[in-house]
Amino acid sequence: MDHFDAAKSSRRYFDWAATAIPEEKPLAGFFGNPSSLYEEGRKAREALENARSRCAAVLGVPGETVYFTSCGTESNALVLHSLILKARKTGVLYSAVEHSSVRENCQVLERLGFPVIPGKVEKDGRISPETLSRALEKHPDTRFAAIMGVNNETGALMDMKALSEVIRSKNVPVFFHSDLVQAAGKLRLDIRGWDLDSASFSAHKLGGPRGIGLLYLKKPIEVLYTGGGQERGIRPGTENTLGAMALAECLEKHAAAGALEAACKEAAARWAYLIRALKKNPRCRLVPEDREEEDKRFSPWILQARFRDVPGEVMVRALDSEGIAISTGSACSSSSPGRPVLSAMGLDEHASLEGVRISQGWSTSYEDLDALLEGIQKALAFL
Ligand code: PLP
Repeated sequence: MDHFDAAKSSRRYFDWAATAIPEEKPLAGFFGNPSSLYEEGRKAREALENARSRCAAVLGVPGETVYFTSCGTESNALVLHSLILKARKTGVLYSAVEHSSVRENCQVLERLGFPVIPGKVEKDGRISPETLSRALEKHPDTRFAAIMGVNNETGALMDMKALSEVIRSKNVPVFFHSDLVQAAGKLRLDIRGWDLDSASFSAHKLGGPRGIGLLYLKKPIEVLYTGGGQERGIRPGTENTLGAMALAECLEKHAAAGALEAACKEAAARWAYLIRALKKNPRCRLVPEDREEEDKRFSPWILQARFRDVPGEVMVRALDSEGIAISTGSACSSSSPGRPVLSAMGLDEHASLEGVRISQGWSTSYEDLDALLEGIQKALAFL
């Protein structure tokens, strides 16, 4: 099959938060197994370690805290499931808007007898430092907190610095994990400043290939499954050298300071244009309704909206037939009924089923936005 060329395609793609259009280049010559002692293996090992150092440099953390995994889901699950090996079943708190790979793995822990609390969010889908503080005081047994950096359905930005300060102000050691899958390349990361114990990343949200993720661990943890000891035992299994190299390249290209700021500025201008137009549409409601054209509470890459009396799935199909791709919520929520993120924000079932997610990427143009707006008008005329 031909490589998808966004510039030449007549399709308009607005589901970057599900997966970004890849920029992958062939990386031949590094096929050796990094654990092999002969030249091909040594070359692959060198490339893998070089990729690790490059990722660490962009993330501003020491190389030995970076572990390659197969995806964001696995990075989240590795950390959560490691709690099963602890002698005591201590409390776990997660923000009620976490991605299913956090939420559903927390629910697994709950089934195993862990006290698990979904942390309440405000109407804008953000967890406030005051709410977090009250939750930690009400549940003093909490020793693990999972709070994502950027929400994958609404773009809500969590105030990581303030939330970290709340967690660290309590006189108990709480392991602080953050799913930064949608934050990398979209938000200035400060892993050390936020004093995270662990964080998850995924290459395919950054224009890289699928099958490669990253887990930052301030200190090594004991993981639930074992094997050949690769990645210092944290993620056993033959290493994905080419994936790691591609991830390093994507992080450098999109998450490093200068490039990040310029891309965010352009994205914010495009989003303001889209939001302005959508606000004029009487059948459209943004989620939350008070989202502004340029709103510091939200990432300018993701937008949640709903259209009166049009189920989200119907809108997705109607736009698909116009050559436009948007989505209903997360691409990975197929096993959870309903829309847990929108429900946590206070939307009733009817309203949350109308929700659609529109997300953009580096190559999204104003022409794409105009085509989307036109497609929505056409769809609404029939629905
Ligand atoms: N976390 C968030 C916030 C996501 O948006 C996603 C993917 O949509 C994941 C985790 C899972 O990442 P992956 O697809 O690499 O497993």
